[in-house]
Amino acid sequence: MKDKKHDSVAILGSGESGMGAALLANAKGLSVFLSDSGAIDDNKKQRLTENNIPFEENGHSIDELLKYDEIIKSPGIPEKVAVIKALRAADKYIISEIEFASRYTNAKLVAITGSNGKTTTTLLTYHLLKSAGLNVGMAGNIGNSLASLILEADYDIIVLELSSFQLDGMYEFKADTSLLLNITPDHLDRYNYDINQYADSKLRITQNQEANEQFIFNIDDKLIEEKMANTDIGTQKTGFSLRSVIGSGACQMGRKLSFHTEKMDFSIPIREIPLIGKHNLYNTMAAVLVAIKYGVKKSQILAGLKSFKNAPHRLEYVGTIDGVTFINDSKATNVDSVYYALEGMDRNVIWIAGGVNKGNDYSVLKDLVNEKVSALVCLGTDNKHLLDAFCDDIEIIHVTHNMSECIDTALKIANPGDVVLLSPACASFDLFNNYEHRGDEFKRVVLDLKKKFKSVKTLVI
Ligand code: ADP
Repeated sequence: MKDKKHDSVAILGSGESGMGAALLANAKGLSVFLSDSGAIDDNKKQRLTENNIPFEENGHSIDELLKYDEIIKSPGIPEKVAVIKALRAADKYIISEIEFASRYTNAKLVAITGSNGKTTTTLLTYHLLKSAGLNVGMAGNIGNSLASLILEADYDIIVLELSSFQLDGMYEFKADTSLLLNITPDHLDRYNYDINQYADSKLRITQNQEANEQFIFNIDDKLIEEKMANTDIGTQKTGFSLRSVIGSGACQMGRKLSFHTEKMDFSIPIREIPLIGKHNLYNTMAAVLVAIKYGVKKSQILAGLKSFKNAPHRLEYVGTIDGVTFINDSKATNVDSVYYALEGMDRNVIWIAGGVNKGNDYSVLKDLVNEKVSALVCLGTDNKHLLDAFCDDIEIIHVTHNMSECIDTALKIANPGDVVLLSPACASFDLFNNYEHRGDEFKRVVLDLKKKFKSVKTLVI
């Protein structure tokens, strides 16, 4: 353990991170208490009871929480809720599960953040290291907590996907390699609608890093550049760019991505990168720079890129019906990710968008929409924001309210060779449980339709 400060912890939230923190703290001999404002699942209650961890549900007892030295807060709990205000007023030390768990590992930590591309880059980085035979684990925002990973096994390297909410509760955490992909407006409701506060939170990824460690960042991102000028970053900086040719780091040179580091100099033909779109070239450059740092060889990197499969709902090919290709990008819940999705399309696009609008500014999409989109199919309860934004740019616009109607409409409008792209720019909660549910429904309806088309064709023949 690096720096044990406290003997007792209270944990807010019984989600993945809260449960992981409770079990790790308990295993390390700390006195633990878990508190949830809602009901706790029966199987979780059973695990807590089996481990003799006291808990409360359906509300927080502030007096009880105040008895503990340190508070571990789920990243989902905003600052403005009463319990946090009360604990802050009492000057309690409130941290995230990642901050807590990182005290109990000696693994080299690769910390990845950004507004978009975190999951893809985390998965790709992990895959490149793992397929090269390194002893590597993966945790964080991607699904399983760092605490539970540490309880499971010892790793030499751990790749962590970090959200700004997790970074906000991190003070002494130190990454061996930190990686910042981009900063574009997202989650501003949690940052007083101030992009600067959000950006400051992202830059925390570099905190405490020393000269022998590394910060990998996107040189093309203006906000990162601005913030770096005002942040004291005490570690080696390595950039990647698609716009400038740089002597050190990674950049595009013609049809290749070129890597220049102290350890290696080589390039990869862009056609060998299996992921669609320019944004994925950024993600690939970032992940490959990490792989180089940990000694992965060029041949292993090329093999790893070839065998990589991205997570679903990110520009995921679903199927082709009558020459029309369907792509599921349900994870594109903000304008920036739609920008990259449209940019990556090399055919005429029937664009499916809509859902819960998070205060989107669609103006950055206008040029791409004019160039690539022949029809917009809105999918949401309230589509006014989309209609207002694009009524002068797109000739064909349809409004639909469920997935079957939406896909039937898209298929009717599409011509062979077109792409039907679900890339909503919005959250999904008006019609679906979450973006996964929306993407799964899209896939289900498309694949059902594909089967029907096949059987109709067979009958005709
Ligand atoms: P995150 O974990 O940060 O949400 P994902 O890898 O899950 O990122 O991708 C989310 C959405 O953003 C997808 O629609 C994807 O196509 C798009 N995306 C991925 N990488 C980038 C990037 N570097 N820049 C902009 N958009 C991206």
